[in-house]
Amino acid sequence: MQKPEPLAGRRLLVSAGPTREPLDPVRFLSNRSSGKMGFAVAQAAQEAGAVVTLVAGPVWLPTPEGVERIDVETAREMSDAIHARIEQTDIFISAAAVADYRPRRREDVKIKKHGETMRLELVRNPDIVASVASLPGAPFTVGFAAETENVQANARSKLVHKKLDMIAANRVGDGLAFDADDNELSLLWQGGALILPKQDKLALARAMLACIGQRFVEKQTSEGAR
Ligand code: C5P
Repeated sequence: MQKPEPLAGRRLLVSAGPTREPLDPVRFLSNRSSGKMGFAVAQAAQEAGAVVTLVAGPVWLPTPEGVERIDVETAREMSDAIHARIEQTDIFISAAAVADYRPRRREDVKIKKHGETMRLELVRNPDIVASVASLPGAPFTVGFAAETENVQANARSKLVHKKLDMIAANRVGDGLAFDADDNELSLLWQGGALILPKQDKLALARAMLACIGQRFVEKQTSEGAR
C-alpha cells in the first residue's frame, strides 16, 4: 500500500518575492529577492497534491501550473491579502522578503532634488509571519531566515520570537539565496533540525515540503491527543 500523502488536499498559502515601498509615483524601496524560492515551494506543494495560493510581490516569474496567484506590491497589501485568506489555510509558508520599513509618506508628485543630502523617514511595516503565527488557531507556520552570520543561532531565535512551527535558515552571499538558482537550507523546529545541502530551488522545495508534511501531521496528532 502507498503511504498517504500528508499534503494532499491541504490548503497552502505561500508568500514570495520582495515588496515595494513607494516614495512617490516613480520611486520605491525594495530588495533583490527574485521570488524563485517561494515559487518553487508553491510548485512543489501543488505537485504534492495541496491546494495552493501564492501571494507574490513584483517578480518576473511564470505562475506554477494549478496555483492561484495574487499579485501585491507593498508589505501592507501583502499582509491584507494573507490575512484575508488565513482562516482557510492549513499551512502558511512565508518565503517573501518583506520590507521591514516603508517611507512615512508616499508623495503624490515626483520628489524634486534640492540640496546635496536628503533625509528619508521610515516607519516599521507589520511582521506578517509573526502576526499569523500568533493568531488563535494559527495555521502551521513556516518562516525563512536569511542570515550573513551565526545562521542557526539567529534563525532559532526567530523561530522562538515569532512563534513559528518551523524556520528555513540560509546563509546569504557567495552565490547563495537571493536571486540565485541554487540554495542550501537548514530546517529548524523545536527539538529538531534537518540540513538540506546545496541544490536547485525546486529540489530543495520538494525536500522541504516532505519535512513540513511530516511535522504538520505530527503536530496535528499531538494536538488531537491533548
Ligand atoms: O526577521 P526577518 O526579516 O529575518 O524574518 C524573516 C521571515 O519573516 C521571513 O519568513 C519573512 O517572510 C517574514 N517577514 C514578514 N514580515 C516582515 C518581515 C519578515 O512576514 N515585515
